[in-house]
Amino acid sequence: MHAIGIDIGGTKIAGAVVDELGGIVRRNRRPSPAGDGERIVETVAEMIEELAGDEPVIAAGVAAAGFVDSAQSTVYYAPNLDWRNEPLRERLEARLGLPIVVDNDANAAGWAEFRFGAGRLVSDMCMLTIGTGVGGAIVSGDRLFRGGFGSGGELGHLRLVPDGLPCGCGQRGCIEQYGSGRALLRIAGGIADEEAAGIGRALAAARAERPLDGESVGALIQAGDPGALEALGRLGRNLGEACATLSAVLDPQRFVFGGGVSIAGELLLAPIREAFAAHLPARGFHPEPDFVIAEFVNDAGIVGAADLARVWVAERA
Ligand code: BGC
Ligand code: ZN
Repeated sequence: MHAIGIDIGGTKIAGAVVDELGGIVRRNRRPSPAGDGERIVETVAEMIEELAGDEPVIAAGVAAAGFVDSAQSTVYYAPNLDWRNEPLRERLEARLGLPIVVDNDANAAGWAEFRFGAGRLVSDMCMLTIGTGVGGAIVSGDRLFRGGFGSGGELGHLRLVPDGLPCGCGQRGCIEQYGSGRALLRIAGGIADEEAAGIGRALAAARAERPLDGESVGALIQAGDPGALEALGRLGRNLGEACATLSAVLDPQRFVFGGGVSIAGELLLAPIREAFAAHLPARGFHPEPDFVIAEFVNDAGIVGAADLARVWVAERA
């Protein structure tokens, strides 16, 4: 039976009816009333009603950018939204006659890649989503790792820099501050400041028009601008260093990169591989993972959320 997947992002909420093979049957999307938790719940409920229509669906999975409890019901904390202890399942189920399963957005994306995409041929993979924040998903021995209280795999909050930049999680120096889409803009801005007469010239010129954003920096990366490529290189090296540590803990066969920044493809993977090699413990004496870009571009969250909801219902049937 079909399931519904909803992915709550910073700028938009995407939803779809998904079949058992991860195929999208029907989709919808709305702008995200970002920052307004109440209205996000309203919008998600409306989207689920609209998608379900008259057709029977087994459940709806809702992917959210935050720490989720082990009952897959409450968002404990969303660093980049205003949710604190948000009882998302309860509020949605009160409005809809359908089982609702809440999951972390990166877990949903990682699950989609593991089941149907870049991770389908491995048993152990680690996914990092490089968007507004840095999300993480760990698949170990063919199972999604959730930890003892549900919120495991929050890889964006691994500390990379002692006493580094403050993070939305309340700590400092998290990889999210050095490896996310926002970090890319910050690094690019730094290059525009420091090297305005050199490799930062085009970034500085773009910034004179309007504040640097994903679109302007992305266009410069695609055009091969040395300043923008240097920013992406620094970002990738930060991520690669974190992957070396993750590899020592998880020993995945494959790292998969998703999220908006991953459209840079090989340009992102090359510096990741370089820093990974430079920092990997016991290098040369054990097998090493490979590094690939996610196969689902924008649909990983919705496809994974729908499939995880189906798994949740099946395990309790
Ligand atoms: C949150 C994660 C989320 C990631 C990507 C992080 O700040 O802590 O829960 O998966 O952003 O959205
Ligand atoms: Zn953090």
